[in-house]
Amino acid sequence: MFTSVFKRFRKPYVNYAQVKQLADIITVANWLRIKVVNGNGPCPHASDKRAISFNPAWPHKDGSIGKFDCWACQKRGDTNATGDVLELICHVRGYTGHDRSLKAALEMQERFTGYVPKAVERKLPPDGLDYLEYDHVDVQALGLTIEAATRLGIGYARKGTLAGRVLMPIRTREGKLLGYAGFCADKNPILKLPSNLNDPDL
Ligand SMILES: [Zn+2]
Repeated sequence: MFTSVFKRFRKPYVNYAQVKQLADIITVANWLRIKVVNGNGPCPHASDKRAISFNPAWPHKDGSIGKFDCWACQKRGDTNATGDVLELICHVRGYTGHDRSLKAALEMQERFTGYVPKAVERKLPPDGLDYLEYDHVDVQALGLTIEAATRLGIGYARKGTLAGRVLMPIRTREGKLLGYAGFCADKNPILKLPSNLNDPDL
């Protein structure tokens, strides 16, 4: 019986080695809609129907088993990759960036155990909330034109935990959205910050 590999941290904790063993690489390929015939299958990024070759018995150092190589794309998922199940998910889905393995692992966890950690459920869309009003009078009161507010992603929220405030995105130096600072001159506190800013992992 598989025990939960997640603890309820704000940023989900993942035991990658355990997640990788939830399903073998052929099962994962089938889930990704790749039909494997005689150890080969198509890559969604290439026309060759046998672009990806699978070695379901390949042993990895972390104890997981199964490897793929995409000969059409000349890669095993990404740079320095080993070609394991998580890298297969990243390659097929087109995931890049430093948190691609986390994304793939959470997806695999959800698919094969049904478990979704709370922090993921609350995750902000990377491009920001889509319901902010850039032409709201409270936004203009800050001296912003609609164009500037739209470009900066600063807008008024009618719903959500910061409803009734002007929201300003807070990002890391790399551009990752951490949350919003919510401003309202008539409310206490006037400025509300996200609770996760001191988290060293963000
Ligand atoms: Zn490929």
